[in-house]
Amino acid sequence: MIETNSNLNEMLPVAVIGAGPVGLAAASHLINKGEKVIILEFGKKVGANILKWAHVRLFSPWKYNMDKEAIKLLIENGWVSPDLDELPTGKELLDSYLYPLSQIPQIEESLFLNTKVVGITRMGLDKVKDRNRENLPFEIYVEQDGISKIVRARTVIDATGTWSNPNPVLSSGVWTSSEQSLRDNIYYGIPDVLGKNLERYVGQKIIVVGSGHSAINSILDLGYLKDRYPKTEIIWAIRKEKVNDVYGGQEKDNLAARGELGTRIQELVESGKINVKTGFYITELVKENNNILVRGIENGVPASISGIGQIITGTGARPDISFLREVRTNLDSAIESVSKLAPLIDPNVHSCGTVRPHGEEVLRQPEENFYIIGMKSYGRAPTFLMATGYEQARSIVSYLVGDFDAAKEVHLELPETGVCSINRAPCCQPETMENKVIIQSGLEVEKLSITDSSSCYNPTNKIEDDNIENKEQGCCG
Ligand SMILES: Cc1cc2nc3c(=O)[nH]c(=O)nc-3n(C[C@H](O)[C@H](O)[C@H](O)COP(=O)(O)OP(=O)(O)OC[C@H]3O[C@@H](n4cnc5c(N)ncnc54)[C@H](O)[C@@H]3O)c2cc1C
Repeated sequence: MIETNSNLNEMLPVAVIGAGPVGLAAASHLINKGEKVIILEFGKKVGANILKWAHVRLFSPWKYNMDKEAIKLLIENGWVSPDLDELPTGKELLDSYLYPLSQIPQIEESLFLNTKVVGITRMGLDKVKDRNRENLPFEIYVEQDGISKIVRARTVIDATGTWSNPNPVLSSGVWTSSEQSLRDNIYYGIPDVLGKNLERYVGQKIIVVGSGHSAINSILDLGYLKDRYPKTEIIWAIRKEKVNDVYGGQEKDNLAARGELGTRIQELVESGKINVKTGFYITELVKENNNILVRGIENGVPASISGIGQIITGTGARPDISFLREVRTNLDSAIESVSKLAPLIDPNVHSCGTVRPHGEEVLRQPEENFYIIGMKSYGRAPTFLMATGYEQARSIVSYLVGDFDAAKEVHLELPETGVCSINRAPCCQPETMENKVIIQSGLEVEKLSITDSSSCYNPTNKIEDDNIENKEQGCCG
């Protein structure tokens, strides 16, 4: 058995993995509480995942995109806040918030860039061994500038997001070698169609896959491209049976920018500039000279589309759980989210739970002092909001410093979406009420049967464990 001096453990830092907005928020909370912190980030700079969609405009305004403890640190260092009601692009989020935050001395001295975490364990133990593991420090295996190292920590907060691990094109979710061999013709995410990726798409026959906001952003940009280069052909393949199901809340959405996306995509579809394939499940990609033959099932019947020059896939992302093999985690078997969150965010059921506040208790893992937060805590569910992650960070740090009452409080403030979504079962109210729509995070649009204009989110309405265990109660309790 490996013994450890508990004083040694106390002297070790809390390790935050991932310097996205949520990881940096957790670090800010820790620093403001006087805790020792170490931040391990794969990218060359903080916010490396956001850099991949820097050209995209967010639909939540600044006031929802910044963490309060991070703001405190920034203000102490002479920072000037952007206009809280403006909608930043990803680039503006980096330039005006995350990059300045990373230059705050206490953050800068704790931050290790170009540092990829490849494994986490308890000192000298694999995940099977019980004895004394809760007293052992964590050992984090990292690759830093090509060199392998081990970093020790007393607590680990995994905030590595999901955007670096996109889902494949195939509806089955399986990564095949034939898809991998076609990578030059496939873009995963949201390309800068009208900017640096323009040449890739001009005059091409392009298929966009997916029906969330990523795909919608790409389609809208391709629409402008087609205005300038009419030979460009745009096909939009969605699994939903009706394209109307993708339009979302439109003018009823309280986040106007989200609503507008739905209105604009509807106009584009109705203009006839894009060929929409509904009920389309892609089963195979075959190389066809310089192009791709897409095979699939369209409304239950085998179908194929040939001559595709480029595929843009907006089918979401999944968490990287490979480096968590030696810690004890409890993840949902379908969503791959933190287990207790799954009933509230399962896209098969509803999305209204996505704005329900939750904290340390819900996020607690079987491995003591190990947490998964941020986008990664939602696993494959696409409905995460930064503000939710900031509340997760606040609650966990309160718990870590022994302020258990604060850990249980709820400080989350989110825009009143006014609507609650559910697909299988009515949420809170009878189904006879007016149909409304919610778009929860900007990545997913859902049309739902809802009830009245009251929101399912209620700041005073904390998630109790009982509610979380009960899937049917997930929406409004
Ligand atoms: C196009 C788009 C638009 C969005 N718009 C909004 C919006 O308007 N409002 C909103 O609230 N939310 C929005 N979101 C959702 C979400 O808030 C963001 O994705 C946000 O960036 C999530 O923050 P995060 O810190 O959890 O993860 P990320 O921002 O993904 O950060 C994770 C970090 O971890 C690092 N990392 C990954 N693996 C490792 C590893 N093994 N070792 C070390 N470091 C690692 C990455 O490099 C990255 O820097 C949007 C998302 C997308 C994709």
